Amino acid sequence: MPKILIVGGGYAGFYTALKLEKWLRNGEAEVTVVDPLPYMTYQPFLPEVAAGSIEPRHAVVALRPHLKSTRVVAAKVTGINHATKSVTITPADGEPWDEDYDIIVVTAGSVSRTFPIPGVADEAIGLKTIEEATAIRDRLLDNFERASTLPAGPERDRLLTTVVVGGGFAGIEIFGELRSFASSLLKYYPQLTLDDTHFHLIEAMGRIMPEVSLKTSHWVLKNLAEHDAIVHLETQLTSAVDGKIELSTGETFESDLIVWTAGVMASPMLRNTDLPIEERGRLRVQADLRVINDDGVVPDAWGAGDVSAVPDITGGGVGGFTVPNAQHAVRQGKQLAKNIVATLRGENPAEYFHKNAGAVASIGLGIGVFQSGNLAVKGLPAWFMHRGYHGLAIPTWERKIRVFANWFLNFLLGRDIVGIIARNEPRAAFEAFASRPKPATATAAPAAAAPVAAAPAAATPATKAAPATRAKKAPAKVPTTAKK
Ligand SMILES: Cc1cc2nc3c(=O)[nH]c(=O)nc-3n(C[C@H](O)[C@H](O)[C@H](O)COP(=O)(O)OP(=O)(O)OC[C@H]3O[C@@H](n4cnc5c(N)ncnc54)[C@H](O)[C@@H]3O)c2cc1C
Repeated sequence: MPKILIVGGGYAGFYTALKLEKWLRNGEAEVTVVDPLPYMTYQPFLPEVAAGSIEPRHAVVALRPHLKSTRVVAAKVTGINHATKSVTITPADGEPWDEDYDIIVVTAGSVSRTFPIPGVADEAIGLKTIEEATAIRDRLLDNFERASTLPAGPERDRLLTTVVVGGGFAGIEIFGELRSFASSLLKYYPQLTLDDTHFHLIEAMGRIMPEVSLKTSHWVLKNLAEHDAIVHLETQLTSAVDGKIELSTGETFESDLIVWTAGVMASPMLRNTDLPIEERGRLRVQADLRVINDDGVVPDAWGAGDVSAVPDITGGGVGGFTVPNAQHAVRQGKQLAKNIVATLRGENPAEYFHKNAGAVASIGLGIGVFQSGNLAVKGLPAWFMHRGYHGLAIPTWERKIRVFANWFLNFLLGRDIVGIIARNEPRAAFEAFASRPKPATATAAPAAAAPVAAAPAAATPATKAAPATRAKKAPAKVPTTAKK
């Protein structure tokens, strides 16, 4: 039986496996998905997770319950040698191992793309994973708690200042959602007013959201301004050291929450393979999703999703390639499964063809924007379209039901505003009061007695030092800026 190995169980990988399960005949091939995460993340929901509108676990789809006949391996692929048809798989625990395959599918997605700006790597947080979205939510909630006990001044300003870098779709969504979330929190904090909270979006270009028309983007800017959110266009972040924001305009201020959404790049795991990569670091594939090099098709290698440069044969796309979004990743995953089944049966694979269906975003509770060609919908109707589309687009009915049910509950009961910040140090409360074995005394075994007796002063502080060190790690004060 041919062995199909899928690298990455996100959008494209999950759908490839799901459809292979459906279309392969019994015994026709064996499918394995390797991903360090046992779930695929529905990334369009991350801004709403960060804003407390969606329960984090509802925005991810566990692989095992839905991929019943696929072998799921929770580990990273750290190398592909296609010449020998072997991958190196590295688990979180234990030794890496090599595994042979007959057909490889690379769907390892993308990671946040950053620039070497001082402070960014240490202080900012991305928005690609459910863990990041949850950390952003908890940080904002915790900052409100801490700020509410402080007098007006620089420290309170720092806690209540949120910065988003990047004015693309994801950046505007998280910015609008966090602004809306913060405004909704104010009713629980009589000590704080809207004027005490500060929201800055930094965008290097002269406009936001290139996916919508200029006119629609102006409407979004106006709407954000009406909600006291500041957008800095044609501005670059030049430093974020210790949370001190420095802009190319000369403006400076401090922030305790810096969210980085300024673009993505193909998963760097590709560098550890012998597969062909184009100049932007993506896997080279042709329109039927087979990997190609200068000599033509590389047999038995396929790619789809953010990690691949898929030619956009509709004539749209950026630079002739499909843009990295879920709309394409899902459909490419399905096409890829169809094509693999076709080639296994000696048929020809078909080219991937999908005309952009438009873009829809939520920029806060009750505010949305939709654009398809010249058609633009704004405000509440677009927000309903966003919820309707994404609520139905998240894979599996089980997830759709959870998401819609939770939105309905939020409508009745309001957002859940509990941030469980102590989760970062879950053992701290137990450890702070846990009994420990008494330190060795002078009456201990003769062999140990001499050094202990000779240095009692040193022995005592040494044993006492342990709780003090741990107390420092306790969640009395969270780190100054959100860290992964
Ligand atoms: C905040 C946000 C909002 C978005 N909103 C929209 C939207 O509204 N509409 C839209 O169309 N698109 C949206 N997108 C984009 C969309 O989510 C991505 O384009 C899509 O997830 C790409 O799918 P993928 O399968 O290529 O990668 P992913 O879904 O990222 O999956 C890649 C998988 O590969 C795994 N992986 C990585 N490295 C390895 C390795 N070495 N070994 C094994 N596994 C590995 C990862 O763990 C991951 O599970 C949004 C993205 C973000 C971040």
